Amino acid sequence: MKQNGFFGRWGGAFIPEILHETFEQLKISFQKAKEDPKFWLEYQELMSTYSCRPTPLTYAENLTRHFGGAKIYIKREDLNHTGAHKANNVMGQGLLVKRMGKKRVIAETGAGQHGMATATMAAKFGFACTIYMGEVDVLRQRPNVFWMEKMGATVVPVKDGSRTLKDAINEAFRDWVTNIDSTHYVLGTACGPAPFPEMVSWFQSIIGQEAQKQIVVQHGKPPARVYACVGGGSNAMGIFQGFLDNDEVELIGVEAGGKGLSTGRHAARLCGRDASPGVAQGYKTMFLQDSDGQMLETHSVAAGLDYVGVSPILADLAEKGRVRFESATDDEVMAALDLTMRMEGIIPALESTHGFVQAFKEAPLLSRDDAIIINQSGRGDKDIFTIAHAFNDPSWKEFIIARGREYEK
Ligand SMILES: *Cc1c(COP(=O)(O)O)cnc(C)c1O
Repeated sequence: MKQNGFFGRWGGAFIPEILHETFEQLKISFQKAKEDPKFWLEYQELMSTYSCRPTPLTYAENLTRHFGGAKIYIKREDLNHTGAHKANNVMGQGLLVKRMGKKRVIAETGAGQHGMATATMAAKFGFACTIYMGEVDVLRQRPNVFWMEKMGATVVPVKDGSRTLKDAINEAFRDWVTNIDSTHYVLGTACGPAPFPEMVSWFQSIIGQEAQKQIVVQHGKPPARVYACVGGGSNAMGIFQGFLDNDEVELIGVEAGGKGLSTGRHAARLCGRDASPGVAQGYKTMFLQDSDGQMLETHSVAAGLDYVGVSPILADLAEKGRVRFESATDDEVMAALDLTMRMEGIIPALESTHGFVQAFKEAPLLSRDDAIIINQSGRGDKDIFTIAHAFNDPSWKEFIIARGREYEK
């Protein structure tokens, strides 16, 4: 990274004057932590006793036989506490908050997964915690809201604008500006103003560090290709960092193709033709925006990939040709999920399944001596409402209706 937080022509920190000092403090604390080997050891210790690190690398024997090409390995970030790689980022930032001597954390959340992870971290560290969430999302994501509140967080429904994620982000920034001294904003992905993209990627690099060692032990050599889904880009940056300096390993990021790239109903920023360079939410990247810079509506069956921007680090790696970007449609995701559940007894999150789709397309074309790794960023349990609905499961529908009746009594 360059001094000013740019990666090639992407990134930077476009922030209001009032936040400059806070960002300086954060940058310095982060640099100090990064240079202190004890900090990383403390982080690893925490993740191995509170979460489930190192997460296993699973050989998917049945899927490998089915596709008849490269050996398919799955990095199991779903086995983290709270069910996804998000734990790596929030627990890392929690340790940093402790170092900075702050006592309160805030976060924005769309689908609720990052809010859940942050509320968990706050409970563990004894921080006060406020989560901003669009009013529409609060209604859609009641189970997550329920658990956040049970863990002691205050969930604030944001009633401005479209009452979704971007309005929640604005409200969280407003809070931060008002409570700078006491509060840290726990950003959820490798986006936003510097140092967040680099910092979040650094915490997530624990995935790649482990995977790089595990594949050599289990397969005898590095993989031919590594696949990861890309929302903001944090799980992809996490696993890619284990292989970035080995040019023999091809890295593939998979974005949300939604209803198809030609329909306009997707979240493909680095593949496809609908995104353009812009500055918003404090950083420069490829945004899905119209010619006036108004953000477009995005769509994906996976809430975690449904975002207008993308990590500036990935925008740079795309431009340099180091990471190839592809997309998977909602329908392809449902088919790959069905196959993975039946053949391996593993339920990937809808987000993660995007990576599986592309890996399944390419595995048969590779040699049996080669290995590929799919980063399973999270588990699909959280998606039961969406998945059951998409499979049009009649008994599930009956169950939901019966539950509703019980409450009406
Ligand atoms: C949030 C989420 C994502 C998307 O975030 P990235 O920053 O792109 O990793 C992907 N998978 C799961 C399971 C998530 O919860």
